[in-house]
Amino acid sequence: MQKFDIIIIGASAAGVTAATTARCHYPNKSIAVIRKEKQVQIPCGIPYAFGIVGTPEKNLIPANDIFDKNDIM
Ligand SMILES: Cc1cc2nc3c(=O)[nH]c(=O)nc-3n(C[C@H](O)[C@H](O)[C@H](O)COP(=O)(O)OP(=O)(O)OC[C@H]3O[C@@H](n4cnc5c(N)ncnc54)[C@H](O)[C@@H]3O)c2cc1C
Repeated sequence: MQKFDIIIIGASAAGVTAATTARCHYPNKSIAVIRKEKQVQIPCGIPYAFGIVGTPEKNLIPANDIFDKNDIM
């Protein structure tokens, strides 16, 4: 079984922020995020209010890219 130094549960606003903040403070630690969903919608009503997202499927947190760039599993 693979072991990690830091495990974060959930990959919405708080989870992504916690994971990237942990990476900033602990560049050498292994970090994993446990997710229920592959993709999470950006939890903000502003893009809908301004009509700039089109459909909810396009309004996703780019968690995969963020995790890849920051060496987060
Ligand atoms: C209708 C609506 C409109 C909103 N508009 C705005 C806005 O305009 N601006 C703004 O700033 N905020 C807005 N909010 C508030 C915003 O949605 C929340 O502040 C934000 O989503 C909180 O993020 P979070 O990561 O703490 O929690 P959540 O977004 O609830 O994320 C928790 C994540 O953890 C996952 N999870 C839970 N349990 C487990 C488990 N056991 N294993 C794995 N994963 C798990 C969930 O699936 C989810 O993906 C709005 C909220 C609502 C409901």
